[in-house]
Amino acid sequence: MELTLQNEASGQTAANRGGQAGVTLLGSGSRGNALVVHGERGSLLIDAGFSLKQTLTRMQECGIDIDTVGAILVSHEHGDHVRGVGVVSRRMRVPVFCNRAAAGAIRERGLDGRGAINIFSAGGSFDFDEFRVTPFSVPHDARDTVGFSIDIGSFRIGVATDLGHATQPVLHHLRECDILVVESNHDPAMLRNSRRPWPVKQRINGRHGHLSNEDCMQLLQKVVAPRTRHVIMAHASEECNRYELVGDLAGQCLESMGRADVAVGIGRQDRPLPTCFVGG
Ligand SMILES: [Zn+2]
Ligand SMILES: [Zn+2]
Repeated sequence: MELTLQNEASGQTAANRGGQAGVTLLGSGSRGNALVVHGERGSLLIDAGFSLKQTLTRMQECGIDIDTVGAILVSHEHGDHVRGVGVVSRRMRVPVFCNRAAAGAIRERGLDGRGAINIFSAGGSFDFDEFRVTPFSVPHDARDTVGFSIDIGSFRIGVATDLGHATQPVLHHLRECDILVVESNHDPAMLRNSRRPWPVKQRINGRHGHLSNEDCMQLLQKVVAPRTRHVIMAHASEECNRYELVGDLAGQCLESMGRADVAVGIGRQDRPLPTCFVGG
């Protein structure tokens, strides 16, 4: 696997466990989401919300060989997560994994590219190559949205990018992660003052919408563990948030927890983040 190691972790605990795992956020926001989870031998793409061209360009920019990608996991059927799923899976010749509800929605919209879709159920785990994947239910206004916790050897990566609030099961699955990818969607005041129609504001702010910055910081306080080395803030709204604000809040939050050592990445819509690794 050819990768550009731009942001290696120096964590003792991780290094002592041997092996390597990592995450490249290719881009995140309401116009498209995709990230790559790296193992020792291969990788998984989580969500395919960009066009084929954008997906390939961003992967190339990050030094990721598409031949290393073994499968695409889909969190839910919203367009910003599945727009490219058919074309990308066809081009990469890899299977798609999602739950039954998302598969139905993807097929109805003709986004499956006539490829095979493998069905998983939230709450159970399945193995794919070196990855043990555990999809878990999150409250969001799609048919059946999931987050993922992914074990690679002794490393764990947690991903929850679209959720209205953090339930106990969500907190459970995001604890004990070496790398966390969590949503910090909006600043409540910016959302209130935005020109979005009232029902949209209510939807975003609701229990099945998106996590505000404050919600996200509360989530971090509950789930950041001694082993956590990287936190990636995802799905920030371009209209109702500022990347700098998210970075400041996350920095303050981690400092208040005595965890200023945790590296913070702010996911952006328009470009990928450098790959972050643990171990190796
Ligand atoms: Zn969504
Ligand atoms: Zn989304």
